[in-house]
Amino acid sequence: MEKYLKGIRVIDQIHVSEKVVFLRLDLNVPIRHGVIEDTTRIQESLPTIKYLLEQKSKVIIASHLGRPKNKDDKKYSMLPVGEKLAELLNVEVILAEDPSPDFMKPTLKGLTKKQIIVQENLRFFEGETENSVDLARIWASYSDVYINDAFGASHRAHASIEALPRLMQEKGCGFLIQKELKYLGRILDRPERPFAVILGGAKVSDKIPVLENLIDRLDFLFVGGAMAYTFLKAAGVPVGRSLVEVDQLNYCRELLERFKARHKHIFLPIDHKVADQLEMPTITKVTEDEKIPEGLMGLDIGPKTLESYQKALNQARTIFWNGPMGVFEKDEFAVGTLSLARFLAQLKGVFRVIGGGDSASAVNRAGVAQEFDHVSTGGGASLEFLQGNSLPGIEVLRDRRLM
Ligand code: AMP
Repeated sequence: MEKYLKGIRVIDQIHVSEKVVFLRLDLNVPIRHGVIEDTTRIQESLPTIKYLLEQKSKVIIASHLGRPKNKDDKKYSMLPVGEKLAELLNVEVILAEDPSPDFMKPTLKGLTKKQIIVQENLRFFEGETENSVDLARIWASYSDVYINDAFGASHRAHASIEALPRLMQEKGCGFLIQKELKYLGRILDRPERPFAVILGGAKVSDKIPVLENLIDRLDFLFVGGAMAYTFLKAAGVPVGRSLVEVDQLNYCRELLERFKARHKHIFLPIDHKVADQLEMPTITKVTEDEKIPEGLMGLDIGPKTLESYQKALNQARTIFWNGPMGVFEKDEFAVGTLSLARFLAQLKGVFRVIGGGDSASAVNRAGVAQEFDHVSTGGGASLEFLQGNSLPGIEVLRDRRLM
């Protein structure tokens, strides 16, 4: 049994046939003007839902969606997600705006084999984000089995993630969590070496715990995104008006020393795509070297950096990537991130895991997601896991008697 699944029953080890199953999923997908822009999280949840339908379970699907201000914030309704599920599963979806037993019990009673219930956005319900036991009791009053397959939400102690399974006897995880723990667990425990970690994104401070937990395991660290400018400034390189976390300069300086002392290599950009401003820049150019002229800011890694990173990454046997190399939301600063995605996609015989969030959208945008061993569905959750933290939504599923 996988180490990280110790004491946790996977859905196919639980009696779910004909039972009412409360299935917590992470269907928090990007929606614009009512249209789902990326269906990855829905697709990844399908094996578990299909299994339950095959087992003739009565399925209640529950997920949060975005950050609604209140229950009337209809922009965050689960309706488009429900419609997508209906289409993909060829079932009728009943959207339950009311989680109370008064509505749910008769609905469950009349539920046919071709119907599933999708609860409205959990964050519309009072008490979800407060981990309310009262809300959890309502759900428990009509559920026989609890299944968590919401990896991307398992780092949050919310009512549907923590309080509810605490009340339930019959509980376990779905196939997606099983897969996430298997692949991310391999990155933590058995990375074949050389092991390369690529970190990007906005802030060094967000990535410190992960860096600290991986520093002794990794062989190479590649830094990109705005994070790189704090490192470069710490190393005495002029960075112009690039985003710098002044309060992390000492940490970066120290980390550079620690890498040196351990004879490990940290790669920083050696050229950049720069501009005078992010919105409608009047100047954009590629720098000659790692120095950024005064008045300009680094917004993407340059071609020499990409080449040097690729050359070194060719030696790796395991690669973990989290965080974009630049402001990849804008086409003119997306080249570094998308080129890196395409490069990693064509490597052979290398175990490659994408740590969710923006890097997952980057590999999707580059159309190469299926080339990777694993693309995590949880950005925050995968980083917390790799920091060595236990995730409340996973811990609560463990049964001491099975350990
Ligand atoms: P994070 O959530 O920390 O992974 O950061 C992701 C964000 O970092 C994305 O929205 C990027 O646009 C942003 N980002 C990446 N590179 C830069 C940069 N050079 N300057 C400013 N923002 C950046």
